[in-house]
Amino acid sequence: MIMIKNLFKSYDKVIFADLSVSFENCGLYVIKGESGSGKSTFLNMLAGFETYDKGVIENDHTQIMIFQSYELIEELTVEKNIYLYRKPRSKDKTLLQKLGLEPLLKHYPKELSGGQKQRAGIARSLLFETEVILCDEPTESLDINNKKVVMDILKELSEDRLVIVVSHDEELIKEYADVVYEIKDHGLNIIYNAQKDFKPLEKKEYRGLDKGNVDKILKDTSRFRNILFIVIFMIFVGFMGGLFKVYDDLFVKDDMYFLNADKAYVKIDDSDVKEYYLESFDLKEIVPFVSVMVNDQNYRLNIYPLDDIAEAKDVIINQNAADKLNLKVGDEIALMYEYLTKMQGIDCRVIKIVKEETSLNNIYYDLDKMWEYFEGVKTEYTSMAEHLRRHADTLEADVALKDFGSFKKQIEEQDDEVSVYNVLLEEKDSLAKESEVYKLVFDIARIVLTAMVLIYAFVFKDRENKRLKRIAALLLSFGITKGVFKRSCLTIKGFEIVALGFLSLAMIGASYLLFDLRNSDLLWLLAVVIVVLLIESLMLWRFIKDIKNDEINTILKNG
Ligand code: ADP
Ligand code: MG
Repeated sequence: MIMIKNLFKSYDKVIFADLSVSFENCGLYVIKGESGSGKSTFLNMLAGFETYDKGVIENDHTQIMIFQSYELIEELTVEKNIYLYRKPRSKDKTLLQKLGLEPLLKHYPKELSGGQKQRAGIARSLLFETEVILCDEPTESLDINNKKVVMDILKELSEDRLVIVVSHDEELIKEYADVVYEIKDHGLNIIYNAQKDFKPLEKKEYRGLDKGNVDKILKDTSRFRNILFIVIFMIFVGFMGGLFKVYDDLFVKDDMYFLNADKAYVKIDDSDVKEYYLESFDLKEIVPFVSVMVNDQNYRLNIYPLDDIAEAKDVIINQNAADKLNLKVGDEIALMYEYLTKMQGIDCRVIKIVKEETSLNNIYYDLDKMWEYFEGVKTEYTSMAEHLRRHADTLEADVALKDFGSFKKQIEEQDDEVSVYNVLLEEKDSLAKESEVYKLVFDIARIVLTAMVLIYAFVFKDRENKRLKRIAALLLSFGITKGVFKRSCLTIKGFEIVALGFLSLAMIGASYLLFDLRNSDLLWLLAVVIVVLLIESLMLWRFIKDIKNDEINTILKNG
């Protein structure tokens, strides 16, 4: 039996004062009253969705509430919506037939009319087979026919259960009510009793929703969206990986492999001061080669000394130069220099082709051996070496790349006619200048993309939480406890987050290997994944913390 003793309830005004009433028997009870008199509040307190200020409600029966709005879960078919906790049985057929739901079972709620949805909601509640059925204006927006259908079903069920209907429909009350109460003066007054031979309200075997059901409902309702989210996130990670790869290929030259990276060149236009520099610093003149001749074609390339190449007439070229001049190891090329306004060449053999990480076309010769060779070449007056040295305006020094700055400063302090450079740094500078705009575009792109994904993750979870909240309200109204719902959320949603984490890491690993990403790129991707996982976890935590019984009716009423 249900017993209410000395109950007080008020919002900003008093709704019930010292209300006492009890329901001991089966039957169809109607509670009527003016709008705003507290009918819904009364049912909600019976159902446990609403607190009260004082008094006692004793209710040890299983119960179900049929709301004014029949919240169906939009991701589930009518059949799945109706059978939330058990499989269909043949004896359900009559109920479904009466409510005209049989042909609609495979449809989704959005394909149903308002009336059809309501009937589905009613069927779902009735299938729970509870001892008490609470109905808040169940026929409010049903047409005459369906009103009759629903009331007939409730009437039939009331033979061995307690059905409490809130209504202000006088016709309906007259036709169906066994007992009628009216809310008046903050209490319930009995105004009609059919004096039937009611069966006492007895306890029946009942199996409602359990955690397994809730797990399944949560899985069914979020599977599609979650897969979509994971796919979008994976595409993002892959795309970012690709973007980093392009970025690195275009702009990142940190670890450029470059043969004479540790050489500084000092260019001196005034030959008078050359002696001073040669004596004061550890400098060497480099041979003033002008160009390269291959198959009678003249090419301007970078011709630089390199330490310890086998022979004077051996040269090493880089892949760019090899491609440009169509050369392979063993081919002959001539390094050209000027002698008395005429061009002369020294025939050299390509002994090696190396890959340098630069776009420059470089040719390297052995400086000491080259000078030695020119010592031996006699001209009319002197040796070719002496002649060339007179025209050599570029000096070379061994300066580690990291010390280049201080070396340059030291030299240029002496004389501002003298310029000091390092080929690799020159190239880096010009690359950096050229690519500044593109770099900016890339940087903005990656920041915007990342921000978009983070916002998407947040919005996705926020919307999911709103959906989950309705589902939570619905399932709580069907008797599942908050604890069970929370645990179910943790298992199912927690698993989704873990799965997202693992898949993301796998995707990052794959793009790391595939795109040969730098560590900073890897860190960026990892950070994005961690932030997304954090957002998801925090939002889940916030949601779970927030599940409240007294919100159920508000949520379901405002459906
Ligand atoms: P009925 O169902 O009889 O129309 P309700 O039980 O919904 O009336 O509401 C009774 C009174 O309590 C109304 O005046 C309503 O405005 C007020 N009320 C209902 N719920 C709340 C609430 N959550 N907070 C404040 N006032 C409320
Ligand atoms: Mg109401």
